[in-house]
Amino acid sequence: AKEDGRGTFRVFEAQMGAQLRDRRQLEHDLRLALVNEELTLVYQPQVDLDTDTVTGFETLVRWTHPERGPIPPSRFIPIAEETGLILQLGEWVMRRACIEAASWNRPLLIAVNVSAVQLHASNFVEFVQDILLETGLDAERLEIEITETAMIRNMSRAIANLRQIKALGVKVAMDDFGTGYSSLSNLRAFPFDRIKVDQSFIRAVHTNDQSAAIVRAVLGLGKGLNLPILAEGVEKPEELEFLRNEICDSAQGYWFGKPQPIAAYEDIVRGNSAT
Ligand code: C2E
Ligand code: CA
Ligand code: CA
Ligand code: CA
Repeated sequence: AKEDGRGTFRVFEAQMGAQLRDRRQLEHDLRLALVNEELTLVYQPQVDLDTDTVTGFETLVRWTHPERGPIPPSRFIPIAEETGLILQLGEWVMRRACIEAASWNRPLLIAVNVSAVQLHASNFVEFVQDILLETGLDAERLEIEITETAMIRNMSRAIANLRQIKALGVKVAMDDFGTGYSSLSNLRAFPFDRIKVDQSFIRAVHTNDQSAAIVRAVLGLGKGLNLPILAEGVEKPEELEFLRNEICDSAQGYWFGKPQPIAAYEDIVRGNSAT
């Protein structure tokens, strides 16, 4: 029995060890990725449903590992958050995105994901201000996307930082709306510029009565609070038709365009009057 117990423990220990080693390896490699230029940004269009025009792009980070190939953000962002590497990564993303957007002919919006660790950093506001100065991007063209969970950790610090960010002219969107814990009180606690409804509610909204009811309710909430709503993850024309019928403000998803290197969207960012 003693033998068995130890044996079982060793197997468990070995698995844990392997997982930990893998994480440590990824953490180590991510540090290198930041200096070796293995990270890139892709851009996904956001479309105004009134005018059917692209009003901006969300930027999403990509990592191509030299040996393992592409590693999804769902794998490395959590590691970056736990190790604090997200501060460096987030700075790189914000700078790259602002440099890119500042080079466009058209004054389109650039939406950047900001994680909890960044939002709660004491120098977050200064950091955003510095990047705007450095890149020359109009503050009004930058939108930061924050999840509800990101706000919860230290609500008063988060709100204070967001207020100062907004005072610069930067916009603030609530990301993944509906998947967090205290959606409605968060909406009252902070004046967001818009809400992004999570793609899980948009998926098959035209056939799923529950999703339809939820999306209608969120759109009603948006109208009542005078808060524009963006639908995430629109893949099908039927989903889009539903959103149009329900008067949703804007949308994003594979139907309009996948996240791609900006070269794929050059015509849009260049506009008609190419210089
Ligand atoms: P998110 O901010 O909710 O981003 C939307 C995710 O949905 C992206 O996944 C995007 O590629 C995907 N997507 C967009 N349209 C569709 C669609 O029509 N159908 C489907 N099935 N998916 C769609 P991605 O790029 O893998 O990013 C996953 C998450 O990683 C993001 O979720 C965000 O939370 C995080 N992330 C990505 N880039 C950054 C970054 O630069 N900084 C931070 N802090 N987080 C990031
Ligand atoms: Ca986002
Ligand atoms: Ca989202
Ligand atoms: Ca998400």
